[in-house]
Amino acid sequence: MQTEKRDGMRAGRQAKREPRCIYCGSAKDGLAVREDAVIASIRWFNRRILGRYRNYRLVVCKDCYLNYRKARKKYVRKQASYLVVGLLFAGLLVAVSPGNLFAYLFGFAIIAFMYLLSLVSYLPALEAEPQPQSGARQGARDGGNRAKNV
Ligand SMILES: [Zn+2]
Repeated sequence: MQTEKRDGMRAGRQAKREPRCIYCGSAKDGLAVREDAVIASIRWFNRRILGRYRNYRLVVCKDCYLNYRKARKKYVRKQASYLVVGLLFAGLLVAVSPGNLFAYLFGFAIIAFMYLLSLVSYLPALEAEPQPQSGARQGARDGGNRAKNV
């Protein structure tokens, strides 16, 4: 019964845009990816420069969600550390040659470069994080504790 309902929903949505999992690349439906500036830029680039118009609805499918979440966390940390390195270099540059306009420009270029570098492994955020199934997990944990106590 549940699959029937899901198939019906899928058919309705498919009429609009085909879903595409950003993690495994399959056409499975899943959690909506937030259409941010980076994705908009990639879309623009594909359409205007490469002449490809792939208007997929970007999702993360159920099978990939756990892996995606881990990778996304790692990505966010990595991006932050890239930016910190960029800021340190820029700060150093300005500190070494204070008042030098070129140092400021170059420092800014380093930060921009580090940001672009972090986009190589870009993983977008989700439109909305699913509610963690704490009920089931909590239950399992309680069960484990109970077993230990007995
Ligand atoms: Zn997937």
